[in-house]
Amino acid sequence: MWRYAEVLPVAFDADVSMGEGLTPLVGAPGHPGCWLKLDYLMPTLSFKDRGAVVLATLAKVTGAERLVVDSSGNAGTALAAYAARCGVACEVFVPRGTSGAKVNQMRAHGADVHVVDGDRQAAAEAAISRLADAPGARYASHVYDPYFLHGTKTFAYELWEQTAGHLPGTVLLPVGNGTLLLGAYLGFLELVSRGYLPSLPRLVGVQAGRCAPLAAAYARGLVQPVALTPGPTVAEGIAISRPPRGAQCLEAVRASGGCFVTVDEEEIVAAQAELAANGLFVEPTAAVCWAALVAGADADDDHGGSVGRDGGAVVPLCGSGLKTAH
Ligand SMILES: *Cc1c(COP(=O)(O)O)cnc(C)c1O
Repeated sequence: MWRYAEVLPVAFDADVSMGEGLTPLVGAPGHPGCWLKLDYLMPTLSFKDRGAVVLATLAKVTGAERLVVDSSGNAGTALAAYAARCGVACEVFVPRGTSGAKVNQMRAHGADVHVVDGDRQAAAEAAISRLADAPGARYASHVYDPYFLHGTKTFAYELWEQTAGHLPGTVLLPVGNGTLLLGAYLGFLELVSRGYLPSLPRLVGVQAGRCAPLAAAYARGLVQPVALTPGPTVAEGIAISRPPRGAQCLEAVRASGGCFVTVDEEEIVAAQAELAANGLFVEPTAAVCWAALVAGADADDDHGGSVGRDGGAVVPLCGSGLKTAH
């Protein structure tokens, strides 16, 4: 991704980078004109490396001694790995129920992992209170730190380059906190404003039906996420009931002419199995956009309508199946 160093807020550091980015774009099986972006083929096996390398480089440059992070798994794993490369200590707060494989991966990189007895929100609160008494600590939040989005925006730049500027009409994005959605939006805005793209692609945010505060807000025409009590979902990486940047996510999707859609548990599980049957081993969260494409391709407007039918679509696959395999 450092081929786009000119538009990144920190300089390339060869001791920190692990060659993240420029992931393959391959044809989607059975859906002509649609593409899969294999962001699970990253150094720590999720798209979070795009943002984590930027935050860790920044921590190194500014002399932070410790990164404090809250995460449902993959962001913590990515930051643990990149913090290790910078020689900076890393503490990760995860909610109870986070996949053991993700926790093992963080610990392998030397992070101090605290499993918080509560949900994702409780993990965030624990991280914030830890920061108050940890001198030299920097909050490396993928949710709040704007530098993270400058890393994830490279997703848009790569799509532009890999399609030679002829992007499909729709880009689907999994949305929990929206760090890939907002990064992609930022990247596409930059490309449009510099004259490299004629217009934004339609951004379609995909949420799990059991935890869909943004899809519910979109459906009701609201500008803030809907407060709800989430149900359990296999899509642990997007199980965010109160996304702090929810209003910004809704605005980005609307500004692009896109929409929010939901997929149910059965659709997610079936999508994961179908991808695996095509050689693509991803975690359940990473199958939600494929589930939405399949649902939208065979049907009607309440499933996202023309998702993928006119002008093709890009479906990111964001996390490896090894993250949740037993
Ligand atoms: C983090 C993550 C997401 C969601 O990212 P948000 O920033 O919460 O929207 C989706 N899929 C995978 C595999 C992830 O790790």
